[in-house]
Parts: sequence; structure tokens; C-alpha cells
Amino acid sequence: MFQHLQQYAGDPIFGLNDAFHRNTHPQKINLTIGLYYDENGRIPVLPSVAAVQKELADDPSPRVYLPMEGLASYRSAVQRVVFGADSRVVAEGKVATIQTLGGTGALKVGADLLHDAYPLAGVWISDPAWDNHHAIFGGAGITTHSYPYYDPDTKGLAFDAMMNCLNELPARSIVLLHPCCHNPTGVDPTPEQWQQIIAVMLERGLIPFLDLAYQGMGEGMEEDAYAVRAMADAGLSFLVANSFSKNLSVYGERCGGLSVVCASADEAELVLGQLKAVVRRIYSSAPWHGGHVVAGVLNDPQRHAQWLTEVEAMRRRMAQVRKAVHEMLAAKLPGYDADYFLQQKGMFTYSGLSREQLVALRERHGVYIIDSGRIAVPGLNNANLEHFTDALVDVLER
Ligand code: PMP
Repeated sequence: MFQHLQQYAGDPIFGLNDAFHRNTHPQKINLTIGLYYDENGRIPVLPSVAAVQKELADDPSPRVYLPMEGLASYRSAVQRVVFGADSRVVAEGKVATIQTLGGTGALKVGADLLHDAYPLAGVWISDPAWDNHHAIFGGAGITTHSYPYYDPDTKGLAFDAMMNCLNELPARSIVLLHPCCHNPTGVDPTPEQWQQIIAVMLERGLIPFLDLAYQGMGEGMEEDAYAVRAMADAGLSFLVANSFSKNLSVYGERCGGLSVVCASADEAELVLGQLKAVVRRIYSSAPWHGGHVVAGVLNDPQRHAQWLTEVEAMRRRMAQVRKAVHEMLAAKLPGYDADYFLQQKGMFTYSGLSREQLVALRERHGVYIIDSGRIAVPGLNNANLEHFTDALVDVLER
């Protein structure tokens, strides 16, 4: 019955991960996967999260279905974290927020809502992209396009080319933007550049869709939400998909949120109803356990404060790793410009290494980086930095 279907190629990142596990190099390093690892190479269970999980394990209350929009205390926590505790749009009731199945679920629900509301609208996605953006929006029946984002010459933002493209878009086009820690490049617009992006959104009547998957991993919890808050202040209507997978280290709990900022409280009410309808037809409701874990951390002032320190520790560690790589490369290969390690932010760095160099890294040194040259920074730690930089120098010198 299904023989006519094409083989699913799988995710290339997972394929490479399998190859890493088969590799017998004694100092092999896995820099493929977008997970946060601590200094000991372990995925952390944050103490703030563990405390709530323990309480929940002892809680005998039945695991009922959550409402379609999710847990109320979770939804208000999303609004405080994403929009800020003193957000005007939130206070005015202009934001419709639901609990979602991770950031991916938020993108899917948002894409379905947009396709219902604007069936002819296309979406513009950064080049290079997190590949799933194309898959999610394409899967929702929305035509996907790319806008220029990364400049290989500067290893920075191709801002003029990006703006030229946005300036040509038809009204009501959807523009997918990463407020911080762009995946895969680690390259983010500055606040001044965000202001120019916002001006184009307003001028051309575009629909910004912000994908906030790494809040707190770049500059700080508040700083990383700059674009969200600036758009709200500018009076734009827009969507934000946020994920707690990384900043609470709760990947498999599937915890995210979708917020739609509307022109009025009445419109937000209408949108909330439509969001519930979309959720109902695809998965009915979000997870009880994940919802209570996140709400339990974010709504308790002490745990919330503890969580902020835990995120800060993750962020600091990645910044230290970037600094250490930069210093080591400066000493080992003085002619090589490794500034991008310092300038790019968050979990990823776009190295610009060639295919041959990446293959040599794997085969000669057991260092695994995906084919785009995207390095997952948290895979580096004090124990493997020397080997990593030696390997890099070897392939760069060839
Ligand atoms: N957007 C981006 C840019 C991501 O990198 C990721 C996670 N890799 C997601 C969304 C999805 O987040 P989640 O794992 O919470 O579904």
C-alpha cells in the first residue's frame, strides 16, 4: 500500500552522530548535536527542575488532560519570561499564549494558524536555515522562500542583502526571524539592526514570526528577548514561538509556547480560540508533566531566581569555551582569524570549514562537525579543547 512512498532520508545530524559512536579515536569529540552539555560532557538536570520533578513524583493527583491552550500558570509564565514582567501588551491583554509541544510544536501551530488566516501568504526563512523551518512551514501548506542572512566573507550578518530582500516582499508575507543565537550560524542582528528590521516590517505590512529557541544562552534572559520586546513596543502584530528545551534542559518533556501579539484584547481572544481549534485538530492538548515542571520552576520566586543562575552558568561556560578556543588558535595559528568564535553567540558557531576539512577532522582526529561547518559549542570543554584546536590547526594548515 505504501510502496510508492519515498524513503525518508533521515536527519543527517543523527546519521553523523551514529558514525561518531562507531569511531574508535581515543580523543573523539562530538560537535554535531544542538544539546547543551556541561563541563563534564553531561546533559544537566537543573537542580531547580529536579526539585519540582521530585514534588510531582510524590503528588498523587490524577494526570488529567490539560485544556487545549495548556496550563494557565504555564501560559502566564511564558508571557513574563518572553515579554518581560512589565510588558504593556501583556497587561493590556493583547497577547494570546498557549502551551505547546516544544518550540517545534509552537512553530507548527503558528504555521497552521497563519495558513488558515492568510492562505496565499509565503514564508521567508534565513539562508542558511534550521532545516526544519522549511519542513514545518512547507508541511503546513505554506510556500517557503529564503532571505540572505550570512556573509561567508565576514562570517557575520549579510545585513544589506537581507534588508534588500525584505524590502521587496509583498504585504502579509511571513518572515521567520531568530531573536537570538541564530541556528545554525550564531550570528545575530544588533539592536540597531533590529530597529531597521522592525521599520521594514511596519512599512511593508509583513508578519514577523520570531523563533526564540535559545533565550538566555546568548547575552542574557532579558537581552536575548530584545527583538520580541522591541516589536511589541513598535505596535507590531507578530508571533513568537519559544522553547524551554535548552534553557531548562527539559528536551524530552516537550515544553514550549506560542504567543500571538494582537492589535487589541478582543482580537487576542479571537486568536486564542483559533489556536485552540488548531491544537484540537492536531494533538488535542499539551503534556501535563512538562507543563507542571516548567510552571513549578518559573512561578516560584526562589526557584525562578535559581533557574536564572543556572542559565547564566550555561551561558558563561559557552562564552569561556569560545574565549579559550580563540586564545588557543591565536597562539597555535597566528595568521588565522578566529574572531568569529567570539562574535557569534549561543550554542553554535559557523566555522566556514570546507567539506574536505570537515572530513579530515572526522577521519584523522575523530572531531565530528556537521557538513555545513556548524560547530555545537557545548561539546567542547577543558578536557578536549587542546585536541580540538590541534585538530583544527592541522586541517587549516593543509
Ligand atoms: N527552533 C530552532 C531554531 C531550534 O534550533 C530548535 C531546536 N533545535 C527548535 C526551534 C525546536 O525546539 P524544540 O526542541 O523545543 O522543539
